[in-house]
Amino acid sequence: MWSCYVIILSLLSIAANAQSDDKSVIIIGAGLSGYATARGLIEKGFTDIKILEALGRTGGRIYSVPFSDGFVDLGAQWCHGQTGNIIYEMTSPHFTFGSTAFETVDPYFRLSNGILPEQDLYVALYGAGYKIIHGIDKGVAPNVPFGELFMQKFNALLATTYPDADPEVVKLVKAELVKQVMGFFAANSWNDISPTVNYEEEKATGDQHCTWKKQGFHTFFNYLTKKAPNPAENLNIDAKVILNKVVTNIQYNKNDANSKVTVTCADDTKYTASHVVFTPSLGYLKAHYKTLFTPALDATDPKAIEIESRGVGNLGKFFMQFSNPFWALGTDPFLGIEGMWLEEDKQTAIRDGREWLLGIVAVYAVDNFPDILEVFLAGDYVRTFENTDNEKIIADVTWWLETFAPYMKPVPRPLAVQKTKWMTNEFFLGSYSYPSMAEERNKVRTSHLAAPIVNVDTKPIVLFAGEATDSKYPSMAHGAVNSGFRAAKEIVNYYLP
Ligand SMILES: Cc1cc2nc3c(=O)[nH]c(=O)nc-3n(C[C@H](O)[C@H](O)[C@H](O)COP(=O)(O)OP(=O)(O)OC[C@H]3O[C@@H](n4cnc5c(N)ncnc54)[C@H](O)[C@@H]3O)c2cc1C
Repeated sequence: MWSCYVIILSLLSIAANAQSDDKSVIIIGAGLSGYATARGLIEKGFTDIKILEALGRTGGRIYSVPFSDGFVDLGAQWCHGQTGNIIYEMTSPHFTFGSTAFETVDPYFRLSNGILPEQDLYVALYGAGYKIIHGIDKGVAPNVPFGELFMQKFNALLATTYPDADPEVVKLVKAELVKQVMGFFAANSWNDISPTVNYEEEKATGDQHCTWKKQGFHTFFNYLTKKAPNPAENLNIDAKVILNKVVTNIQYNKNDANSKVTVTCADDTKYTASHVVFTPSLGYLKAHYKTLFTPALDATDPKAIEIESRGVGNLGKFFMQFSNPFWALGTDPFLGIEGMWLEEDKQTAIRDGREWLLGIVAVYAVDNFPDILEVFLAGDYVRTFENTDNEKIIADVTWWLETFAPYMKPVPRPLAVQKTKWMTNEFFLGSYSYPSMAEERNKVRTSHLAAPIVNVDTKPIVLFAGEATDSKYPSMAHGAVNSGFRAAKEIVNYYLP
């Protein structure tokens, strides 16, 4: 009888060990961070990995689509920086990046009455403002919003260096700089951006706009999965992805060291694993975090506060392919038009139902594609843009081009167009996160979102990756990759002796 008891006990203990040694992982989201998590785990010997992806495609906010004789990027387009940018560092030994004309060439400042004004003052003020934007020093006063701080510095510069500047020009240039900030942070208001939080974050150094030439950003997945440069080393991460799986709930038990995490999908399928890594966007989290987790996140949990606090912004792009580069035949090379609205023209555009055009940050020729123009817009206007059909957008952009640059008249009809839809897409609900005043006020940061939920055994059972969880390079594609590697490491480290 006693020996029987011992045998049962031993069997139970083996079962318990097998349970705690079960290194199964479910990754939610097949974007950069999801793939990086998978790579980090596979390279450390993990094999039981599933990636559940809501869409019928992989890549997330990396979305390169065939256009003209190459690919254009509806999501991330540039590799921002070289040193410190893991994407650049992993890819550049095998791929030669291109660079962007607008890194070196001043934009053209054109008015909404069609006039190309004398550029000197515009270029000088814009250049000075641009430097302030990118150089607002780290010793910023707390609780001063980005826009307010910029205005303090810009007004001081005007008083000392440009005391006689035409106030109308100053006003127009300021409006352009606001648009630049909105385009960079994708924020809806520059007074919602925290300089303090922003300058805690880092920037990879070197060329800030390395291009993928005609190949598209999706090229990077070849290096991330090791399909390239040597196909024999392919980690086969694609084979671990299950598409069209919308995760609706993640159930975990912190108090039972042996229990697994259960993931439920919209089609009622369930998956269990020892670890779940959540990578969808901050926009998605904001909309769903109250029901996604069981038990729910406590409202006082810094993770929940960070989800509520960090900003999510909006960017829109519209690519147009033409049969010939009509813009290059005009009076300027048209590497970039900054369209400045005079007040009365602004009101006319609003009255005529073209209000979304006010959100255009710039229109420019796309590097490496002599036949493509790109319209770039930011802020809340993106919603109207996304909800407007292509025919109306083509008509409005044609009007914009002919109004700001009448020498182009008549602008031909594009052969093909591509439009982005990140703000109203239910699986993104925004373009990328930005450092907000609410984060500063509430004393929360991306590290709070990144912190894993651990069980009584200190095992990380629900982990968080994605651009909005990276403390060095949030918002950026390379931040997303870093976050995936970080999450993988958190799991790997748990099993280290
Ligand atoms: C318009 C735009 C321009 C940008 N430009 C640049 C740039 O030039 N350079 C740069 O460095 N960065 C840029 N970015 C940012 C960059 O694209 C992102 O930081 C990065 O791609 C985010 O990767 P991620 O893995 O964190 O998230 P995602 O790519 O969003 O991956 C998350 C995945 O989760 C999936 N998902 C969502 N909900 C669920 C669910 N319930 N169940 C299952 N799956 C779900 C989504 O479909 C998605 O595939 C840009 C982004 C946008 C939108």
